[in-house]
Amino acid sequence: MRVRKRKGAEEMLAEHPEIVLEEATAWKGRWQQLFGNDHPIHIEIGMGKGNFITGMAQAHPEINYVGVEMQVSVVSHALDKVLEKDLHNVRLLHIDGSALTEYFADSEVDQIYLNFSDPWPKKRHEKRRLTSPDFLAVDETVLKPAGEIHFKTDNQGLFEYSLGSFSQYGMTIQKVWLDLHNSDFEGNIMTEYEEKFSSRGQRIYRVEARFPDKRKK
Ligand code: SAH
Repeated sequence: MRVRKRKGAEEMLAEHPEIVLEEATAWKGRWQQLFGNDHPIHIEIGMGKGNFITGMAQAHPEINYVGVEMQVSVVSHALDKVLEKDLHNVRLLHIDGSALTEYFADSEVDQIYLNFSDPWPKKRHEKRRLTSPDFLAVDETVLKPAGEIHFKTDNQGLFEYSLGSFSQYGMTIQKVWLDLHNSDFEGNIMTEYEEKFSSRGQRIYRVEARFPDKRKK
């Protein structure tokens, strides 16, 4: 996501450590304690400005959400939304998604969302794609057995790559949408990019993919 640098973004994050967690490796294995309940934990990696995660949190108070994003200005916009909507089931991490195992214990996470991830179309940048095997290995570690990734994108190339990557990793493709907005899918919460691209008439793809049950390996 390209955003203009926001002046004071770092300070904004620092003013709300109850939402944008600092030194968050301390919460590894203790997220339920942090949220003060035993609700499932869903993560979005590359959450952008937070429309999706805050919309999901409003719609599903019975789930705890953690938004992961590495750009500080972008996180500050998501923070605005968490504060505006006065949400208590959302926390934000200003970190790189490749480091998730430092923040979550094995099997601590119930589900992962990826939305409009950067396509990195060049083969030599494959490792940066959030659906490449190294990222999948990190996701599998923090997810509970047979946990799922739910992925939306407008980018056909990244979608095709991701289906292949999931499959080669041994995941099961549970469900695929080749045109989400003209389907019977209910309860879709749009992301910022989804609003932008779909208003230009671009098709939205979606897939739900499940990891193998690691206990059976
Ligand atoms: N999900 C949002 C933003 C999509 S743009 C939406 O749909 O509107 C992709 C976002 O992923 C960018 O904000 C980028 O900073 C973030 N991102 C890319 N790689 C990341 C990584 N390794 N860890 C954390 N965030 C990442």
